[in-house]
Amino acid sequence: TYRQSGGTKPQALEVLHRVFGYDAFRGEQAAIIEHLVAGGDALVLMPTGGGKSLCYQIPALCRDGAGIVISPLIALIQDQVAALEEAGVRAAGLHSGLTPQEQRDILRALVEGDLDLLYVAPERVNTPSFLDALDHARIALFAIDEAHCVSQWGHDFRPDYRQLDILHERFAWVPRVALTATADPPTREDIVRQLKLDRARVFSTSFDRPNITYRVVAKREPKKQILAFIKDDHAEDAGIIYCMTRKKVDDMAAWLTDQGIPALPYHAGLSADVRAANQARFIREEGLVMVATIAFGMGIDKPNVRFVAHLDLPKSIEAYYQETGRAGRDGLPATAWMAYGLADVVFQRQRMMQSTAPEEHKRRERVKLDAMLAYCETAECRRRFLLRQFDEHRAEPCGNCDICHEPVVTWDATEAAQKAMSAIYRTGERFGVEYLLDILRGNGTDKAKDNGHDRLKTFGCGKDMSNDEWRSIFRQLLAQGFVSVDVEGFGGLTLTESARPVLLNGESLRLRKDPVKASRKADVSTS
Ligand code: ADP
Ligand code: ZN
Repeated sequence: TYRQSGGTKPQALEVLHRVFGYDAFRGEQAAIIEHLVAGGDALVLMPTGGGKSLCYQIPALCRDGAGIVISPLIALIQDQVAALEEAGVRAAGLHSGLTPQEQRDILRALVEGDLDLLYVAPERVNTPSFLDALDHARIALFAIDEAHCVSQWGHDFRPDYRQLDILHERFAWVPRVALTATADPPTREDIVRQLKLDRARVFSTSFDRPNITYRVVAKREPKKQILAFIKDDHAEDAGIIYCMTRKKVDDMAAWLTDQGIPALPYHAGLSADVRAANQARFIREEGLVMVATIAFGMGIDKPNVRFVAHLDLPKSIEAYYQETGRAGRDGLPATAWMAYGLADVVFQRQRMMQSTAPEEHKRRERVKLDAMLAYCETAECRRRFLLRQFDEHRAEPCGNCDICHEPVVTWDATEAAQKAMSAIYRTGERFGVEYLLDILRGNGTDKAKDNGHDRLKTFGCGKDMSNDEWRSIFRQLLAQGFVSVDVEGFGGLTLTESARPVLLNGESLRLRKDPVKASRKADVSTS
């Protein structure tokens, strides 16, 4: 095993060489390990693939006793334990997939000092048998992996994580480290509060993934768009496509396969066998596309995923960043691509309103969705925008996102915005975008005639712009909070307080042009 003869405790660097076979620490690893070996508490914020595991594995080996690691998924536990055993570390995993006898054997090994690392599922922690074993064991440290699971504002809330403060209450002298790849400031505060880590030192590495190119396009014909994206930029590459519903997943996977792009579906409605088989093929074979709901991803470690595409709007930037983070773990160029449209926003807002969650929760979800929308419509470097959500502020644009490649052109949209807003107002703030488009463009549909809306002053006042241009205007008005969605009714657009200065006082408003090559009129800005 790794221990030195003569009983001296091994040094961190030596363990890194001998047990893990690496030459040097990366980034903050050395500082984190030193801090934990010396008995301090730590909160570690590091992107996926950053090297969090060594941050607790090495201190566990350098200190007396066993390191206890709380990890949310059995599959993750099994992977880690297998890798450690291979490296000659005495590791075990405690979870509900074991027989009572197996669990007792592991706890006995812990008490007898025969383990270096013990991985535990969160629901096992607050049980009498486990706590009793801890009372009789030597404990090197507690590591709480995927610590954002403790926060109900996070996207992976696990109620069992809430009980983990028992570790601190009963074993106050044992150093603790919480680790996560997804911590925006509110989630971060929640982790500290819930786990009582106020004395922990915070180690925060950059969340930047410089090899990922970020791109967002306006959703028109999603199937054609994704096909063109794959064919142009990622032919024969492995990739993940996220869709909102199971039906869309099945449909898209079948359609792509028909188009000659081998694709597999993955969602919670498939049997466990099919899911496992599809996942195994995705990881093993080259050039497969996985079309999936967000059920797919946690614990997937395939280094050469070349693109992650979203065909529906994720509900928060945290979730989006974690999902796109599955691209390019090998450090080679990869793309995070998203198609988004107004219907996504309406759908998400309605879903949110219909939920029975407490008001405060809904309010937070709404703030997160608004940030996601603002990301889609931003005119600034996407990476700079994303990193700011994680409290990383950079002065320079990245040079590796769609906006850096093709800077956004803005135009004076005051008059167009007034037209759009008055179409909403004069039709009674009850209608969705497609109907409003008919009014603006003067399409005398039966519905418009029945409502008498073909006689409005606004009717046909927007003929000079295309449907796509109007859609883009409505999206931006929504993203900037001039317009909102009537989520209790049928998703009609309504005006907010901020619309007033533009509509009534002619306050000027600049919007971005969608970077579309096709069918753009030259005279848009003078209309
Ligand atoms: P995370 O948990 O942060 O997603 P991991 O701990 O799984 O990341 O590490 C990601 C990969 O980087 C693993 O393959 C790991 O072995 C490797 N790694 C971590 N630290 C080092 C290092 N100092 N030198 C070389 N490789 C490292
Ligand atoms: Zn950029």
